[in-house]
Amino acid sequence: MSKEVAEFNGLVLARHNYRESDMLVKLMTDRFGKKMFMLHRARKPGFRMAAGFLPFTVGTYVGSINDNGLSFMTTVKDASQFQTISQDIELNAYATYLLSLIDEAFPDGEPIPRWYNQAQTSLKLIDDGLDPAVVTNITEVQLLQAFGVQPEWRGCVIDGRNDLPLDYSEQYGGVLCRDHWYLDRYRFHVLPKAMYLLRWFSVVDLTQLHSIQVSEATKKDLRRVLDRIYQDTVGVVPKAKRFLDQMHKWDQQLPPISTEEKPQSTD
Ligand SMILES: [Zn+2]
Repeated sequence: MSKEVAEFNGLVLARHNYRESDMLVKLMTDRFGKKMFMLHRARKPGFRMAAGFLPFTVGTYVGSINDNGLSFMTTVKDASQFQTISQDIELNAYATYLLSLIDEAFPDGEPIPRWYNQAQTSLKLIDDGLDPAVVTNITEVQLLQAFGVQPEWRGCVIDGRNDLPLDYSEQYGGVLCRDHWYLDRYRFHVLPKAMYLLRWFSVVDLTQLHSIQVSEATKKDLRRVLDRIYQDTVGVVPKAKRFLDQMHKWDQQLPPISTEEKPQSTD
């Protein structure tokens, strides 16, 4: 099995205690995909690389990368933690979910430079104060392809039209224009604004995103649609997602700030 000592950039995905004083840390790297690193004596006081392996940390590392099995770390050249995320329980929950979703989408060891960049950009945007729900939705939409689901967002699955009102059909694997809504009585009845955003999310370049405002009603509908697509066709629900859902239930127990419109079904 080949093994190479290399310098690479990485992002901490998960940490697990191992044996008495060791730690296993999973990094998403820019060149080698996701790799599990064994850190000897990482839980002993004075471990000199500790700052490189905190949650929500990106860095430049030198280590020996094994094709199979565990890899090992030699040096942390540079590391920084997303501070706002690590100190805010809600942002923390969104970032954890987002990273675990990317983690589930790809096998370890498969180079995924695009997703390394996307994960880092997503965390930076959330850390900078962009709406974490929206940043998460964008990743959820763009990851569908990696999970083998490739909804047709561009236009009606039947005739390609995108100038009429559109709705999502699971049965047809994409959007249907109003003329073809009759084909699927279980179409999702997506709110027009949410439909517009879903189609935009499928193509938006996160690095070009600087601000975004989405109403609570639209965000709720985006959540409903993406939950259903993930439950029905992806079948992956990371543990971090359940925590996020639970947190939103606690929110709903607080008195409402404003009245929200309900998703409506219009035929
Ligand atoms: Zn049509």
